[in-house]
Amino acid sequence: MSSLLTREEYQALAGSLTLPTGAFIDGRACAVASGDTFDTINPASGAVLARIASCGDAEVDLAVAKAREAFEDGRWSRAHPSERKKTLIALCKLIRRNQHELAVLESLESGKPILEIETVDIPEALHCLEWHAETADKIYDQVAPAGDDAVAMVVREPIGVVGCVLPWNFPILMLAWKIGPALAAGNSVVVKPAEETSMTALRIAELAHEAGLPRGVFNVVTGEGPVTGKALGLHPDIDMVSFTGSTEIGCRFLEYAAQSNMKRIVLECGGKNPCVVLDDAENLDIVAQHVVQAVFWNMGENCSSNSRLIVDAKVKDALIERILHRMRDWRTGDPLDPVNKLGAIVSKSQFDRVLGFIEAGKTEGATLVAGGGAIEGSGGYFIEPTIFDGVTPGMTIARDEIFGPVLAVITVNGFEEAIAAANDTKYGLTASVFTANVRRAHRAARAIRAGTVTVNCFGEGDITTPFGGFKQSGFGGRDNSIHAHDQYTELKTIWLDVSDADVEDSID
Ligand code: NAD
Ligand code: MN
Repeated sequence: MSSLLTREEYQALAGSLTLPTGAFIDGRACAVASGDTFDTINPASGAVLARIASCGDAEVDLAVAKAREAFEDGRWSRAHPSERKKTLIALCKLIRRNQHELAVLESLESGKPILEIETVDIPEALHCLEWHAETADKIYDQVAPAGDDAVAMVVREPIGVVGCVLPWNFPILMLAWKIGPALAAGNSVVVKPAEETSMTALRIAELAHEAGLPRGVFNVVTGEGPVTGKALGLHPDIDMVSFTGSTEIGCRFLEYAAQSNMKRIVLECGGKNPCVVLDDAENLDIVAQHVVQAVFWNMGENCSSNSRLIVDAKVKDALIERILHRMRDWRTGDPLDPVNKLGAIVSKSQFDRVLGFIEAGKTEGATLVAGGGAIEGSGGYFIEPTIFDGVTPGMTIARDEIFGPVLAVITVNGFEEAIAAANDTKYGLTASVFTANVRRAHRAARAIRAGTVTVNCFGEGDITTPFGGFKQSGFGGRDNSIHAHDQYTELKTIWLDVSDADVEDSID
């Protein structure tokens, strides 16, 4: 892993970077016909960083046409699997070589702390890309038990042209989660980054071509959701869209598919994830550490954030005391200063939205025990890590995904009440359970309706385990693991008649 730089070194790097601002189609940066642009903002200062090309139908059509051309002529889709592996590994080397530059680009646009980008986001993105690259020449197809007169092969083939619609909360990592399995399987991709965070996807597309990826295989169309994202969703020549973002917009993609060509849709959407602490939880100091990490990591801008703490009345006061103690380690400030674990909220609108939820918590009668407002002074969008106690199930902060550093504490009595509270949500992405009793741990893990349940820790599993949601947290597939590979492929049956005519004759 590359070592951290100092704040001054990161600032110097920020000042010297060339910011990528154009769409990337058919292996090169390209101008947008209309000349339209939109501003990308540094949320740590509120200043405009750059103007990004706003792609319309013309650019989306061109990117899809180039992706289709590449797919059909086989320059990548039918390249030898070991070639695909080598190229993706070469991309990882280039990402590593440019890690500090990518980390600064990511931090400038998103407000994410450089410490996290350097130590979590980029290492995990590399691990993901390498893992999927290695699958390219290691996954075997199947031969069905169809008897001696036929050879029935069940094979996986790349699905074709894949649209990847990305969120702003983990721009590099979510890009890796999608292009890793999509490219390893031989697809062509058209990536649409979130409008808040376009630059690292553009830079990684450049690096991919430097690594030898053929042109047309990895295109990036920058632009706003209702324009560029919608054009991808409705495009008649896109075979699949993989989307991460809000449940509301995820549902739009189901409509787009129905209105166009029945493209495959895979959605990874919101969460209102419970952290369940039972009365027999061991070592509340450690539990507090996990609770704080689970809710405040990435400023709470995380679909797997445990934003509901469901805690047994017997241990609540002791746990809250330890949580308040642990929060002191979480310094908020300049994202380019590696002493800070928390940075800025991604945009003015998200900042206003989170402050609106904090106001709702206050007016609906929850008890504020930490934080509760903006951090003034920098011109940027910083919010204090905030905790509300006395939250009841009907309150807005108990129900809605906040996507900010706000914890709602819900007090329960006993196991059954805890599980019922955990499942009292339209979402079902992740959950954590803390208990010393293995029987209760397992019963809770089975009873909670969520795609990932962690026991005595907070987490999302790792690259080897599928990630995605039950209920309105997800649709149609899973990221990570071999299951991610499956979702970017079609199953084909090839049935070969090998019956022996002479043998048939002799039977007659
Ligand atoms: P969003 O769902 O609007 O955006 C996600 C992606 O969809 C972006 O690339 C965006 O450009 C695109 N998009 C937006 N509107 C579109 C449309 N009409 N047609 C096609 N594409 C469209 O998310 P947001 O507005 O940035 O954030 C709002 C809320 O969504 C957040 O507060 C949070 O609750 C949730 N969210 C969840 C995740 C997640 O990881 N699950 C990520 C981002 C946001
Ligand atoms: Mn939106």
